[in-house]
Amino acid sequence: MRPLWKDILISLFMGMVVPWMVLNFAAALLEEEPEIPETLPQVQETVPETVHLPMLLRLSDGSTREMDMDDYLVRVVLAEMPASFETEALKAQAVVARTYTRRAYTTGGKHGDGSICTDPACCQAYITEADYLAKGGTEESIEKIKAAVAASSGYVLTYEGALIEATYFSCSGGRTEDAAAVWGTDYPYLQSVESPGEENAAHYTDTISYDAERLEALLGLDSSRLGAVTYTEGGGVDTIVIGGTEFKGTELRRLLGLRSTAFTLTREGDTITITTKGYGHRVGMSQYGADAMAVSGSSFEEILAYYYQGTQLIRLEIDESGEMR
Ligand SMILES: [Zn+2]
Repeated sequence: MRPLWKDILISLFMGMVVPWMVLNFAAALLEEEPEIPETLPQVQETVPETVHLPMLLRLSDGSTREMDMDDYLVRVVLAEMPASFETEALKAQAVVARTYTRRAYTTGGKHGDGSICTDPACCQAYITEADYLAKGGTEESIEKIKAAVAASSGYVLTYEGALIEATYFSCSGGRTEDAAAVWGTDYPYLQSVESPGEENAAHYTDTISYDAERLEALLGLDSSRLGAVTYTEGGGVDTIVIGGTEFKGTELRRLLGLRSTAFTLTREGDTITITTKGYGHRVGMSQYGADAMAVSGSSFEEILAYYYQGTQLIRLEIDESGEMR
């Protein structure tokens, strides 16, 4: 006869330890190939760090090549804005340049094929990192601008669902201009606004003097007698009469190569002095004004909402079918 304790041990082993081993073995098998039930919640998709958009760069020989939008924008911001500007101003600049580029890409733009050239007088300024370094720029500046472009990746400005005409310029001289006053077309979001804090800009004011005879030759006039002047909402010259001929402020700016249409003419003897305020067409975002806002604590969202009033900042994303929305 076996002792009773042996029977008890065997029963315990068969009844409890064996099933426990079987269960553990089964669990180990399951662990190797986990089966996720469909009822488990899906992991939340995180917003991508970078939104890859294509753009078309027009080279000086007229050929075009596709580039990644943000790689292109780093070169635009390097050329358009001093790297010493506040990061929020650099981000605002990146958004404005992205909006301008994207609008051209989707509507054809100035060149009809959606491309953007590297001529700042036509499209947008552009400098490669290598050229920037060769001209005395630093790696730190490039990194700062790369970070600003990445931080605003995918963001564009819209008005009533459409990409805006995102114009910008260097310095307004204290107040920006209505689009209608410069180009004859009104845009609800391109209206004249105060633009304080630009006094440090290199071309906040500029003075150029002409001998009366020289001015008459340049303008095709017999006389350079100064007549009536009318002004725009933004403080630019709307019309001015010189030698009995009326000129638009924009026309005089073009004929004489003035820095802006916000100018005054004074005459002393045979010398005519023209003093300009600001630099550029003065419509949209002032780059120096944006930096002044950033210095006083404004975010890039606030800067953009101020210079392009009534617009919405949205982030372009690619939907499930690979289409941009
Ligand atoms: Zn162009």
